[in-house]
Amino acid sequence: MTAAVPVAEGLFTWPDHPRLVGSSCAACATTTFPAQQSCPRCTGTDLRPVLLATTGRLWTWTVQAFEPKPPYAADGPFRPYGVGYVELAVEDGDGTAVLVESRLTEADPLRLEIGAEMELAIVPFRRDAHGTQVVTFAFRPVPGPAE
Ligand SMILES: [Zn+2]
Repeated sequence: MTAAVPVAEGLFTWPDHPRLVGSSCAACATTTFPAQQSCPRCTGTDLRPVLLATTGRLWTWTVQAFEPKPPYAADGPFRPYGVGYVELAVEDGDGTAVLVESRLTEADPLRLEIGAEMELAIVPFRRDAHGTQVVTFAFRPVPGPAE
């Protein structure tokens, strides 16, 4: 069996304990995701990689209800999916956080709510030309006490 491979290098740690990898600017403490070579706020270049928390609050969301234009790629027929911004703190950080744009595992508007707690999930994305499963990151609602 061939191991699954991430959709891009450096987006998240893999395969043990997946966490998104961002970058933090030494000059102004701005956190970015994905990791950058230079700071989008102060143009500083002294950035270090940081791991982001695996849970955070849903800042806003929408449902992609029609197939996007290329280079969108997927296995099989299009199915609507959720897209949102999740606010993630820097793990073991000083409280700085970053808004991460992500797919959501949930596409039902009745199950998505601004402010809801979400958790990182590594999900199948597509198969490459060799049949290897390619995985990407998404966020799913953390089940509430009533579920
Ligand atoms: Zn900066």
